[in-house]
Amino acid sequence: MRRYGRVALAGVLVVQLVISTSGTQTKEAAPKKIAIRAGQLIDGKSDTPITNALILIEGDKIAAVTPGGAAPAGVEVIDLSKATLLPGLVDTHTHLLLNGDITADDYDTQLLKESIPYRAVLGARNARIALDHGFTTMRDLETEGAMYADVDIKTAITNGEVPGPRMQVATRAMTPTGMYPLLGYSWELKVPTGVQYVDGVDGARKAVREQVMFGADWIKYYSDRRYHFEADGVLHSMVNFTDEEAKAIVEETHRLGKKVAAHAIGSDGIAAALRAGVDSIEHGDGLTDALIDELVKKGVYWVPTITVGAYVAPGRGGDWTKMVDLEKAAFQKALKKGVKITLGTDAGGFDWKGLNQAKEFEYYVEYGMTPMQAIRSGTVVPAELLGWSDKVGAIEAGKWADLVAVSGDPLKDITELQRVKFVMKGGAVYKNEGK
Ligand SMILES: [Zn+2]
Repeated sequence: MRRYGRVALAGVLVVQLVISTSGTQTKEAAPKKIAIRAGQLIDGKSDTPITNALILIEGDKIAAVTPGGAAPAGVEVIDLSKATLLPGLVDTHTHLLLNGDITADDYDTQLLKESIPYRAVLGARNARIALDHGFTTMRDLETEGAMYADVDIKTAITNGEVPGPRMQVATRAMTPTGMYPLLGYSWELKVPTGVQYVDGVDGARKAVREQVMFGADWIKYYSDRRYHFEADGVLHSMVNFTDEEAKAIVEETHRLGKKVAAHAIGSDGIAAALRAGVDSIEHGDGLTDALIDELVKKGVYWVPTITVGAYVAPGRGGDWTKMVDLEKAAFQKALKKGVKITLGTDAGGFDWKGLNQAKEFEYYVEYGMTPMQAIRSGTVVPAELLGWSDKVGAIEAGKWADLVAVSGDPLKDITELQRVKFVMKGGAVYKNEGK
């Protein structure tokens, strides 16, 4: 792990109380202005980068982007004239409260031997690692037994107590009783579960209401388990919820103005999740041609999480290796057919300290995306999924000043994104390791 860079946690909005001569008027001082000179700018929207761009930041937002241009007099200029500037990266599938999950033992140890406060401390550390790697926004997709600790981490970041990305969180995922670990312990023992067990249509609605009450931005449920290949060559699975239950989860979530992410690996689980009307399919290894068509038709986002699949496969063995190859083929078909692929890694499923989540970009290019497409899948496309298109994902006037820079050209070498040198979030510089 790289050491944490230069920190500027103090609010960038400098508020001064100015008392006028009459002694009755107060006003706020103008927000702090910073200009960045970028050698090359990938703004997240244009097909071609802009060379020698000037980005003017006022307070926590981008005020203007101009090719060439001169910084206004008296404004602090950050010189990144030898670097490529990009929008802050977005990962739409993470687990801040998890630290590696290759085997059942890894998982059980964390739930049985680590307290939730201890796990939350590590979660805050993981949020800092993610920001250090250039991820200024993340959707954290369940706490794996750590209850609502993701809401607390999000709150601490929002309040400026700890550094980390902007967060949308899913709190506790859902499965029916007995369909997610911890399992296999004596019935005499009360052991924690990695999810909230939810049964029946009424139970589903109540669980959604409860999670939203405690701060869930997203509802996540496990559509399937027990993935296996059958004679048709398709990756099948056992579906967890009845259609009525899954539909109740989705309907209630949408009624409360939130969205649903479904873990769905096998074709049966993906089909069930699409029938229920979810907003994003997580993993999706078993996507068939027909299911890909349905994703396109319904405008459902796909979050492939290739990094974790490739990482856990050698340790898990069995069909997991075959699933990596299967997902590669599905990715290529989905890309051709225009599925909205949004970058998600499942960080936490692999150790935050061991692997940079930006590796996911490398897989997308290896699997057939152009570097620009891969960058979009981790900037503008997830911004849409999160409902934050007006705030993150692109470098343009009005958006939050969330920016990263790399020294080389990521359009020539996508692995540059694994070596982020500069990170700004909301106008505050969190890392600046030179040009
Ligand atoms: Zn996950």
